[in-house]
Amino acid sequence: MAEVKCVHCGMTREGITGYAYGGQLEAEIKSKICGVCWQEWKGMSIKIINEYRLDLNDPHANKILIEQMRAYLNMPSAEGQPK
Ligand SMILES: [Zn+2]
Repeated sequence: MAEVKCVHCGMTREGITGYAYGGQLEAEIKSKICGVCWQEWKGMSIKIINEYRLDLNDPHANKILIEQMRAYLNMPSAEGQPK
């Protein structure tokens, strides 16, 4: 298992195993967030989904959740950054 220097907790720990939203976002998350913080976020995301009453079949709701995730995990949007 590869280790990752996590931007949320600042520690170098075991990375994420399993699904993390897929695609380029998943690659970004897995390169920046450790497995422990990811589990924290998963718990938090359930609260956010309930609080905002997000329907994850709705692309707009998904976008809100991703924005919340970036804020929570200290992972600013990649928009405008060089790829
Ligand atoms: Zn972490």
